[in-house]
Amino acid sequence: GETILSVKDLHVSFQTYNGIVKAVRGVSFDLKEGETLAIVGESGSGKSVTAKAVMQLLPKETTRVEKGSILYQDEDLLTFHRKEMQKVRGREISMVFQDPMTSLNPTMKIGKQIMEGLRKHHQLSKKEAYDRAKELLELVGISNADARMKAYPHQFSGGMRQRVVIAMALACHPRVLIADEPTTALDVTIQAQILDLMKEIQEKTNTSIIIITHDLGVVANMADRVAVMYAGEIVETGTLEEMFYEPRHPYTWGLLQSMPQLHQNRDIPLMPIPGSPPDVSSLHDGCPFAPRCPYVMSVCHSHLPDYTQISETHTVTCWLEDHRAPEVERPYRPDS
Ligand code: SF4
Ligand code: MG
Repeated sequence: GETILSVKDLHVSFQTYNGIVKAVRGVSFDLKEGETLAIVGESGSGKSVTAKAVMQLLPKETTRVEKGSILYQDEDLLTFHRKEMQKVRGREISMVFQDPMTSLNPTMKIGKQIMEGLRKHHQLSKKEAYDRAKELLELVGISNADARMKAYPHQFSGGMRQRVVIAMALACHPRVLIADEPTTALDVTIQAQILDLMKEIQEKTNTSIIIITHDLGVVANMADRVAVMYAGEIVETGTLEEMFYEPRHPYTWGLLQSMPQLHQNRDIPLMPIPGSPPDVSSLHDGCPFAPRCPYVMSVCHSHLPDYTQISETHTVTCWLEDHRAPEVERPYRPDS
């Protein structure tokens, strides 16, 4: 498919009491029409910040996009003003959050909320908006839609609320759906239903999906391509097969450790990830994974690894894959 969204060299920093925190440091990825890209990583790795930067949902007072571009159909969203961005949100790119109540008004009936969303973007009569809202509820598998339209959010279960939020996100046929841990708060059965629902809708509408998660089960279920984030950077990206069967980054190996069933008879080092993610406010030179990496070399402490292209679709940022490592490790000194 065609590339619909292209994030290039995105840098985002936060102003905190302790100074500037570089939360996203040079993130680049493409999203193609109809595909699902999973962005994976621990909390604090910059996944949500990246997504919110795309939607321009980061607080203006404390956040700065330092550098980069976010091309949506060849226009840079970062140059869009508030009004232009409002048109993009919902109509072109929609976002679903972990907690459905983030997107729902507890004091308003579900039907009215969906209808208001619809009428914000389209000239619809009340009747048309009602019929479309009802259709959307049916699309996300909510039966008895007429009665459900009159209910308040608290009268729905968590899974039903997330279905409603997905219905709202889809109301205006967005080309891109960004789902940030959409099923993390739900139990396993409901989680599977919501993921199936997203896939089903994608098949019908050819929506492109970015799913943000720390759960490799969700990745295996949903993704065409995977980007692994660590300390504000994408450290490895590839197709689902490349990432699960031929991962190259020690951090990816560590993540896969949590899915032992993937490892049977496969030549992937099994290792836990000791330690915790770095405090991005105190990163030094070199690879941010160095303090936790069992394969660390001295070059890793002094120099940030560069991208190495493993295949057309597979890249990794690690000195283990970079043939220049020995040269950088033992620099040539003219005086010796
Ligand atoms: Fe480990 Fe070095 Fe690779 Fe970083 S660059 S992941 S420290 S081997
Ligand atoms: Mg998050």
